[in-house]
Amino acid sequence: MAGIEDNRDPLDAIFRRLIANYGPITLMHYMGESNARYYSGKDPLGSAGDFITAPEISQMFGELIGLWLADMWIRAGRSDKVHYVELGPGRGTLARDALRAMKKYGLEPKVHFVESSAALKDIQLAAVPQAQWHHDMSTLPARGPLLIVGNEFLDALPIRQLVKTAQGWRERMVGLDADERFIPVAGDKPMDAAIPEARREAEDGTLIETCPGAASVTYEISGRLLAQGGAALLIDYGYDEPRTGSTLQALREHKMVDPFAMPGEADLTAHVDFAAMANVVQARGVRHLGTVTQGHWLRALGIEARAQSLARVAPQHAEAIQSAMHRLVAEDQMGSLFKVMGIGAPEWPLGAGF
Ligand code: SAH
Repeated sequence: MAGIEDNRDPLDAIFRRLIANYGPITLMHYMGESNARYYSGKDPLGSAGDFITAPEISQMFGELIGLWLADMWIRAGRSDKVHYVELGPGRGTLARDALRAMKKYGLEPKVHFVESSAALKDIQLAAVPQAQWHHDMSTLPARGPLLIVGNEFLDALPIRQLVKTAQGWRERMVGLDADERFIPVAGDKPMDAAIPEARREAEDGTLIETCPGAASVTYEISGRLLAQGGAALLIDYGYDEPRTGSTLQALREHKMVDPFAMPGEADLTAHVDFAAMANVVQARGVRHLGTVTQGHWLRALGIEARAQSLARVAPQHAEAIQSAMHRLVAEDQMGSLFKVMGIGAPEWPLGAGF
């Protein structure tokens, strides 16, 4: 596990001080700071870490993404100024697998990683030495089509929760209980204006989540595709119809833990609202190619044939390859909870698998 010297106060102490001096903080503040701290100093991925992601389960995941991008690029006319952009590339595994697959089709894009974690940047550098790093999307090149990928990136962005109380809608905040434990509490400012009119009438206790960060990333991606051409794939666990209730969860050492127990020590995520993102895409005038389940998309791209051909080359791994595929596509595994959203520039082709 990579680590960097961390001389900062524990986040727990910082939050306690803030709450003692100024009252409860917003959940968005709590989640944003917790994840920034969580990702900044360690590699949380893999069996020795806190959670595992699709590219770490099998090379087939990144390869099929590379294949999809290459197919789009070929049908769009093989621009030679093309850039591969990955948001939150983790260990660089997906990029490495996708770039290898793209190369087979003559696609060798410049590589750009949008990453905020210093510890993960070191690991990404070893996996994809030719990449250029960006703190956010604003410094990405302004010329040439972009092939954008984000896997389990949006779910790490801080959410806002709004809860209906007898006094109207309130923001969910984080305060301290009598035993000095962090707990969610309703804020005292009226928040009715933040709720779409159609959803304002609701029973007390109803909870609605929004993710301003996911909306603004989607807005930025859409604007770039409109101006520069290209396509994007955003993959995450989430839902494609409006829903209510909290989806905030915390993972530590592959187990669910209380999101309020150890700020900065567990991975905090929330399900992604793909319907809200599709609205942003359409409002911006680019193509929503579709949002489908990961199982559907990987099957449509030919994961079964890919698994068979890998097993033919390495029969001793046949069982492991089958079980990795099962994890990625089965309904009771990652197959239906995870969704794949495709976005395309207006003049680009419609993507395979949607
Ligand atoms: N895509 C990888 C890693 C997923 S974990 C995989 O599938 O394995 C989330 C990734 O997003 C990490 O690389 C994390 O450091 C990065 N990240 C989280 N919040 C970010 C932010 N606000 N800006 C940039 N990167 C962020």
